[in-house]
Order: sequence, then structure tokens, then C-alpha cells
Amino acid sequence: MALSRRDLLKISTILAASTAFGSEHSKKDDDIKKSVSSYGVQNAPLPKPKGPRVVIVGGGWSGLAVAKYLKKFSPKTDVVLIEKRSVFISCPLSNLWLVDLIDLQFLTHDYLQASQNNGYIYFNATVYDIDRVSKKVFTNEGVVSYDYLVLAPGIDYDYEEWTKGDVELETKLRGFYPAGFIPGSEHFTLKRKIEEFEEGNFVLTVPGGNYRCLPAPYERASLIAWYMKKEGIKGKVVLIDENPDITIKKDGFSSAFNELYKEYIEYLPGSKITGIDLDKKRVVTDMGDEIDFTDASFYPRIRGSKLLEVAGVAKDSAFNKKEADIDPFTYQSKEDPYIYCAGDVRPMGFSKSGNTANSEGHLVAKIIASIIDGKEFKWDSPITVCYSAVSGEPIRAISVNAKYAYDKKKKAFTFKDASTMENWKGRQGIMSGKGLLEWAKGMYRDMFM
Ligand SMILES: Cc1cc2nc3c(=O)[nH]c(=O)nc-3n(C[C@H](O)[C@H](O)[C@H](O)COP(=O)(O)OP(=O)(O)OC[C@H]3O[C@@H](n4cnc5c(N)ncnc54)[C@H](O)[C@@H]3O)c2cc1C
Repeated sequence: MALSRRDLLKISTILAASTAFGSEHSKKDDDIKKSVSSYGVQNAPLPKPKGPRVVIVGGGWSGLAVAKYLKKFSPKTDVVLIEKRSVFISCPLSNLWLVDLIDLQFLTHDYLQASQNNGYIYFNATVYDIDRVSKKVFTNEGVVSYDYLVLAPGIDYDYEEWTKGDVELETKLRGFYPAGFIPGSEHFTLKRKIEEFEEGNFVLTVPGGNYRCLPAPYERASLIAWYMKKEGIKGKVVLIDENPDITIKKDGFSSAFNELYKEYIEYLPGSKITGIDLDKKRVVTDMGDEIDFTDASFYPRIRGSKLLEVAGVAKDSAFNKKEADIDPFTYQSKEDPYIYCAGDVRPMGFSKSGNTANSEGHLVAKIIASIIDGKEFKWDSPITVCYSAVSGEPIRAISVNAKYAYDKKKKAFTFKDASTMENWKGRQGIMSGKGLLEWAKGMYRDMFM
């Protein structure tokens, strides 16, 4: 009797749990996985590959670059990009959309166009299991075989520190006070919250660890404050920051907070949330603050996508839980030489930003093409270019531009050639605002054209 999809999902959950207990990929795991793949799940409706097949899971900033550039560097390679979304909506610049400084069209892009322009297959499906023994990826639309697999599925949220296993609280936080740091419905909910906000405290949070997009919570606080000021709303943003200070572009953000939004932003650094009472709408911190709020968006800690655990290639990093266990120079899984991981799932302390993920996608494409074609490759640093808007009409922005170098003594990557433009005042700030829009257009061109 063939197993139903529900049975398979159950088995894959068990597998995920079994791989979570350690990186050892035991023979027993392999046997179970083999038995999963031998049940009659249909093959995905894809043509037979004419060359080595590379399957990329995740069409975000990293996966899109891997797909495009792999096909460019190694045209004989059969490239399949599996992405669960049918439309790409950009997280970068979404803070501007939240306060009507740009429209949704600017953020929205077409996967079919990207795949047609660049000669790879876009397969719109959700991956729920990976069988490393038979090199198969299980999706809700059928099974896809691979020669090499790239995992670029981005992040998941880690609410544990706040909820201590209280799933009711977690469900409410996810449903009613979403973070808006994973593209999708969360952003629409957050936009509605901002539009409907009339008075009181609007709580935002900055998590610890190496969270996705270091400047984005400060940018979001600035832009919501700008919107409140413009609309004459009797309220303020209360920004509860787990970190001792603003984590990036400190001069630019703190001068904006103090000079533009003194009445509209209350910044609470070094404050860990110790209690959230959603009935009373009250947050308590370890600094003794009790903050009542009218509305909120809680950004919890992050972790690597759970898909890494399903594949058995996850490990706690120095920063976050369950990130990709890879060689930092080749992006190859330490568990499985046929798997590569890219983008925000990486364990290195690079900025978890779109530009970094995209430039890393170029590198991973070069690495895999070189391996397929039997050539040498040389590691190159990812590039972090990141603009943050601090006000609108005209948009004023600040920016950072950096590469990374490996410090052998510290056994860690550090910034190299970093430069910042933190003055949002006058012409410089307005030019940076224009630079922000141009940067985004350039990145979308790189991924979709
Ligand atoms: C509000 C906000 C503002 C930001 N601002 C900036 C900025 O100004 N500049 C900047 O450089 N960066 C910014 N970032 C950060 C940037 O968005 C991320 O660093 C970047 O998206 C990471 O790329 P990625 O490819 O690793 O992950 P993502 O872009 O998240 O892509 C992962 C993809 O995998 C897909 N996926 C996941 N699981 C599965 C599955 N099981 N099956 C199939 N598909 C799956 C997802 O649908 C998604 O499309 C911002 C982020 C946010 C949230």
C-alpha cells in the first residue's frame, strides 16, 4: 500500500527529530530514509536532465543568484530552482512600503521571468524532505533527483526565549504581532497595524544573536516615527533592544532618533524581555520596565530554516541555533559533500543581508560550476552594501559598505574595507536616499533579468 502524503509528512517529522539529536547521520537514519523514498511518491513533472542536475531550494536573494550564475558559468548544468512562493516580494525596502514611500509593485518580481531570462527551471513547490542516500528532494508536487543540492531556504523564528515552550503564546505572537522579517503575510498585517494606529505605544523589538538585517529594526522604528509625525498621530515607537547599543550605523540612527524623533521614539537598549502579557498588552523587561502597548510587532531571535535539520546538515553556530554546518570557504556541508548551503543560513558572522546573500550566491555558483567542470576556484569575500532610510519625502538614508577577511587568530571573519555614510542631513542624506532606490533596482536586475 502506498503511503499518503500525510504519512510521509509524519515520517519526515520523525526524521527531522532524529537528525536534530546530533550531526551523526546514522545507518538507521539512512535505512528509514531509503524506505521513505521507496514508497510510491510520484516524480515531479520535470524533463530528464541533459547534464548534471543541481537543485536549489529557496528562491530568495541567495538562491536566485546561484541559479542564474550557475547556468552562466556552466551552461551544460541542468539547474532547477524549487521555491514555495509563486511571487517574489522583497524584504529589503519593505519598510518604505509600510509607510507608503514606495508601492508594492516596486518590491514584487516574477519568478517565471527570472527563469526564462536565465535558462533554468523554476519549480513552484514546497520541499518537505530530503533523502541524502538516493539524492532526492521530496516536494508537495513530486520528487526531484539531484546530483548536487543547494539549500538556501533562509531563516525561521526562534520564540523559545520568550515563550519557554508556551505554544499558545507563540501562536498568538506569530498570528497577531508578527515580526515581519520573513517575506509574506506578516508584512501585510504590519502595514495594516501602522495604518490603523491612532494613539499610544507601538512596541518594536531588536533581538540578540546575529539576527536578519541588523539595521532593519532601527530603520523600521525611524520610518514608523516619521509616519506618526507626518500624520500627527499621538503615539510613539518603543524600541526594546536586547543589545547594549544600536548594533550598526550607530551615529546615523542615534542622531535621527534624537534630532528627528525625540517625541516619537523611546529607545530602550540592553533590555531583555522577561514577560509578555498579551491580554493586558504589557511587556516586562529585565531592566524593570513595564511597557503598556496599543499595538506591537515582536521580532524574536532567529535560527536557520528547519529544512536544514530535515536534511541533517544543521548545527548551533556561535550566534544562532541550527545554522548550516558548512566549510566557510567552500559552502560545502560537513556532513554531505553533495550539499551546499548559502544565504542567511550560513553560520559565519556575516551580515544577514540581501546584498551579502546575493554576492554569496555568485560565489557558490562559481564553486559548484568549477567542481562540475573540474576547475580550480578561489574564495572571494561576500559584499555587504546596505542602505537604511531614516525619513521620507525626500527619502534620506545612511549606508554601510564592507567586505570580510578571515582572522586566523580569532578563527572568525572580520570586516575589511568597511565604510559608512551616516550623515542623513542635507544633500548627502538625500543622495543616499536616491542611492537606496538605485541599489534595489540594480539588485532586482541582477536576480531577475
Ligand atoms: C524588513 C527587512 C528589511 C531588510 N532590508 C535589507 C536591506 O535594506 N538590504 C539588504 O541587503 N538586506 C535587507 N534585508 C535582509 C534580506 O532580506 C535577507 O538577508 C535576504 O533575504 C536573505 O536571503 P536568503 O536567500 O538567505 O533568504 P530569503 O531571501 O528569505 O529566501 C529564502 C527562500 O526560500 C524559500 N523557502 C524556504 N523554505 C522552503 C521550502 N521548504 N521549500 C521551498 N522554498 C522554500 C522561501 O520562500 C524564500 O523565498 C532585510 C530584511 C527584512 C526582513
